[in-house]
Amino acid sequence: MDDLVLAPGLYIVATPIGNLGDLSPRAAQILMKADVVAVEDSRVTAGLFRHLGTKGKMLPYHDHNADAVRPGLIARMTSEAVALVSDAGTPLISDPGFKLVRDARAAGHVVTTIPGPCAAIAALTLAGLPTDRFFFLGFLPAKQQARAEAIAEVAAIRATLVLYESGPRLAACLAALAEGLGDREAAVAREITKRFEECVTGTLGELAERYADAPPRGEIVVVVAPPGEAAPASEEEADIALREALTRLPPAKAAGEVAKRLGLDRKALYARAMLLKA
Ligand code: SAM
Repeated sequence: MDDLVLAPGLYIVATPIGNLGDLSPRAAQILMKADVVAVEDSRVTAGLFRHLGTKGKMLPYHDHNADAVRPGLIARMTSEAVALVSDAGTPLISDPGFKLVRDARAAGHVVTTIPGPCAAIAALTLAGLPTDRFFFLGFLPAKQQARAEAIAEVAAIRATLVLYESGPRLAACLAALAEGLGDREAAVAREITKRFEECVTGTLGELAERYADAPPRGEIVVVVAPPGEAAPASEEEADIALREALTRLPPAKAAGEVAKRLGLDRKALYARAMLLKA
């Protein structure tokens, strides 16, 4: 491993979200061998390098200096191995990096990923909610109105929702989710891979109540179940829809329209439409 020389290009390196034991051997190797490691906060990544027993060649790359630093990093990729890490987890996921990857590709550099921990994915594995389709929201807006709008935008998505939140805002966020989505099942995954890891499940309303007077410490991911299947329309609802449709359409067409809209059997609705008409 000591003789390894990395090919020039960009290396996206996932790092632990708590437990340093989650740093993969390959990630460690790349971080030690890279010519430069672009870091969000050098004080945070210094801890990781201490764990590796080396100082690391760190260069700050964060929201405030990225535009100024990026061209230099792209130029270095011609002859050097440039690694990118964030403070914790997978770079680019609610963290800086996408423009670096975009520009590295545009310049023809090789981009390699070293996948690993990601809080959103780790929370999904803990929550016990469907994982076949999920939608990642990142952080919702902090302001009430903008948050409600962001929630309304995703209310109809038939997928589990995953979002990042902070302790002080958790209860208000859960209440807003209950208001905008209905009282769905959900999970609050906290301090994943750390000493006080927990995953609390319940409905959004129950969870909002639980955390209202006791904002939790630490880092948090909220996972929300997809919308439930709509309950089948009752006979009464079908009759109301049919009566209305019959004011505009002949029985066969009215039955067809209502069958489509309410997901009911067209033949049965036609028979009922004939009765109503009589
Ligand atoms: N790129 C990171 C990743 O792959 O998970 C996420 C970065 S984002 C700036 C940080 C947020 O991720 C935190 O505010 C929290 O919501 C979530 N997070 C990070 N580590 C966590 C952990 N150990 N447990 C729960 N949530 C965590």
